Amino acid sequence: MTVAPPRTALDGGPYQSYVYAYPHKTAYRPLPERPALRDLWAGEPQDSLSLYLHVPFCEVRCGFCNLFTRVGAPDGLTGAYLDALERQAGAVRAALDGEARFATAAFGGGTPTFLTAAELERLCDIAERRMGADLRAVPLSVEASPATATADRLGVLADRGTTRLSLGVQSFVDAEARAAVRPQRRADVEDALGRVRDAAIPVLNIDLIYGIDGQTERTWRASLDAALAWRPEELYLYPLYVRPLTGLGRRATQEADPAWDEQRLRLYRAGRDHLLAHGYAQQSMRMFRRADAPPQGADDYACQTDGMIGLGCGARSYTSGLHYSFDYAVGMHQIRGIIDDFVARPAADFAHAETGRRVDGDEARRRHLLQSLLQAAGLEHAEYRARFGAAPADHFGDVLDRLADRGWLTDDGTALRLTPEGLAHSDAIGPALFSPAVRAAMTAYERR
Ligand code: SF4
Repeated sequence: MTVAPPRTALDGGPYQSYVYAYPHKTAYRPLPERPALRDLWAGEPQDSLSLYLHVPFCEVRCGFCNLFTRVGAPDGLTGAYLDALERQAGAVRAALDGEARFATAAFGGGTPTFLTAAELERLCDIAERRMGADLRAVPLSVEASPATATADRLGVLADRGTTRLSLGVQSFVDAEARAAVRPQRRADVEDALGRVRDAAIPVLNIDLIYGIDGQTERTWRASLDAALAWRPEELYLYPLYVRPLTGLGRRATQEADPAWDEQRLRLYRAGRDHLLAHGYAQQSMRMFRRADAPPQGADDYACQTDGMIGLGCGARSYTSGLHYSFDYAVGMHQIRGIIDDFVARPAADFAHAETGRRVDGDEARRRHLLQSLLQAAGLEHAEYRARFGAAPADHFGDVLDRLADRGWLTDDGTALRLTPEGLAHSDAIGPALFSPAVRAAMTAYERR
């Protein structure tokens, strides 16, 4: 079956949405039957699961951020949150096979390092003792902000087996950090990077943003060079988005802005070329890896993509047939309510899925297509055929033809790959691959 996306999906500008998971949570809906996790996971492969722990707290709310997080935490809330995580971990672990094994782990947020060093120890204990993940034996990725990347916290994380530390820097230019509503001083960022290197965590990732008000090719290059001075194993270059209900979104009068699109494309190309010239290999539109970096980190492990256990109130979990999570919101008031509800739950409440989306055969194929095509390595024909019994063109011929017509896709007979301009337009291509049903559900979702 070939389903054509509407013309507008590819024609709507280069920055429509960052597709990091499919289907997006805005396509999830309440599951009235509240399926038991034990039933959902029965029969699922459990020998190489991914584990994700979500910490929904930050010191400040960055102006561009629409992640599930709250600013600050009143006394006792982080401890109560860890208590709830522990109850949830017990309930989830009881729903898995005794033989279940984790192949990767990650702490994300929010800012996991908002927790104190002692609380991070506890977070690791929950992953290890409650869930059975061997953190020192698997890749463990942790997100941090400069201000919270303190020596004591990094010491705990390094000691417990962190292999990758991702630091959200965004810009080394103080005025740009302010413009993105993420006030910080460069000197503090440099100090934090020094502490991360001192902690000897094998992979340092630095996140940078382009498209900030007032940012020029010169200042962008200055940020890139400041990051390169640390020889990070990975760099993520994010286009700035102005999203509904975020700090910047409340100020914006309109999102469609061709001049801004042009600025972002120009800075993207300049940044990409700069990193390629400095020994980095492009993995996707956003991700660049130092070519001589040791091969480690979650991305290097072939982990099953359908087996994800997410703990915490903003985490998703995936089986082969259902993606699920708790309620979702972006607005601060609603997020607080969801966190308060999470910490008040008894263990029995964590034994069911409440909100989610079924993933049928067509959605599973789309997910594979999206996850593969948006990577520089592309979509291998043989792998697709082995999994789905047909060629990608048999299922998605129309949209693949359109991408090729635009010069965004090539086929060397082994794999379909986005061209450099195709990668530059990943945030238009991703949404064009959504199913009509998922697109409709996302459109109908009422943001709050
Ligand atoms: S970008 Fe990161 S640090 Fe900033 S509010 Fe979002 S989760 Fe928190």
